[in-house]
Amino acid sequence: MNMDYTSQSQTKSITKEAGKEYIKYIKSKSCLVCANQLVDADHLLTIGMGGNRKKPTWKDYTCIPLCREHHTERHVNWKKFEEKYRINTWQEAFKLLLEYVI
Ligand SMILES: [Zn+2]
Repeated sequence: MNMDYTSQSQTKSITKEAGKEYIKYIKSKSCLVCANQLVDADHLLTIGMGGNRKKPTWKDYTCIPLCREHHTERHVNWKKFEEKYRINTWQEAFKLLLEYVI
């Protein structure tokens, strides 16, 4: 197979920038649970241990805004977190993405 490395790397750099822009957008939101304005972009699909965070990934689009406290709580027990706050995290992530692209 003949790979065009030039155009491939161009596509990657554009995607990487787009992902960064999206994370900025998520960080401009307030916590979905308590409305705290100091939030992290919580990846519903994690980049993974040892994953290269500098590499562009569509997983950046699975982020939701959560403050440090609720971010931690979500990671401890995701299901419990959703039940406790009556929140569907995937639904929220999708709504945020729609709001961003429309
Ligand atoms: Zn919070």
